[in-house]
Amino acid sequence: MSDATKAPAQKETRLQLCILHVVRTIDLTPRMRRIVLGGQDLADFDVPTNALGPYVKLLIPPKHLAEPEWPTIGFDGRLVWPAIERRPVMRTYSVRRFDKAAAELHVDFVMHGDRGVASAWAARAQPGDVVGIWGPGCPTTQNIDWYLFAGDHTALPALAFIMEHLPPTARGQVFIEIPDETEMQALARPEGVEVTWLCPNGAHPGTTSALQDAVKAASWPSDARVFVWAGAEGSVARSIRNHMRTQHRLDREQMYVLNYWKRGASEGAFGYVD
Ligand SMILES: Cc1cc2nc3c(=O)[nH]c(=O)nc-3n(C[C@H](O)[C@H](O)[C@H](O)COP(=O)(O)OP(=O)(O)OC[C@H]3O[C@@H](n4cnc5c(N)ncnc54)[C@H](O)[C@@H]3O)c2cc1C
Repeated sequence: MSDATKAPAQKETRLQLCILHVVRTIDLTPRMRRIVLGGQDLADFDVPTNALGPYVKLLIPPKHLAEPEWPTIGFDGRLVWPAIERRPVMRTYSVRRFDKAAAELHVDFVMHGDRGVASAWAARAQPGDVVGIWGPGCPTTQNIDWYLFAGDHTALPALAFIMEHLPPTARGQVFIEIPDETEMQALARPEGVEVTWLCPNGAHPGTTSALQDAVKAASWPSDARVFVWAGAEGSVARSIRNHMRTQHRLDREQMYVLNYWKRGASEGAFGYVD
């Protein structure tokens, strides 16, 4: 094989991993903490502003290691993970903001307790701590007349990004379920997009039907090209997906409804769509 034919294959198998560090942390609300990440690897990173909820895969070092062994690409092109005690744990988080000029990536974490690797990592994160990221993944759509957005607390960072970047002429409705009023955040949004906060006070996250009830009661102009976006606990997301399929006959191109997390299961133990 000539050198010219070798080059593209080598490029294809390069692992697009950015090794970043914590620059600072900000407690936005009692249960939402922002981790600002920086590092030279962000020079090659970018996020299209039309992405409907861009996300990254975070590679979080195990608690006992300041820096893990990172995965590599093997000769056969497959991902090779280091031994379990030295490898990072992968979790999915939204890009809340990417500031290319400052080379800073903002990621907002719901603090749901010590049971979660990511939540616990964010709780103890200090400037200088190392973390890897892959991505971003960037869902997009086009030619939409009316948007229906729905999310629980974990989808608030994605919804805030989307609202900031939707065209000013966009029209639609957003439902956001949060544990209580202290978790509300100021959201920039186009004038034609209405935001409704749902606060079933005191209820355990993912156990109420507030979000799915609001989505099921929503309506839109009958001739509008609609797009439904949702991120929520698995059973809530499934209920929204089924409703859109059966009651509104929406197909896969007309909705992006993800299981953001699942009660009683760690990420990796469930699919994002079912
Ligand atoms: C595309 C995408 C974007 C996402 N963006 C964000 C984001 O920007 N911010 C964010 O906070 N989350 C976000 N999530 C959700 C996040 O990935 C999950 O909550 C993830 O499970 C957290 O990992 P963990 O290690 O803390 O907990 P895990 O180890 O995955 O789970 C441990 C235990 O905690 C429970 N658990 C997990 N998440 C929650 C929760 N939110 N509330 C209560 N219990 C929980 C699980 O049921 C399990 O019992 C996103 C998910 C997806 C798919």
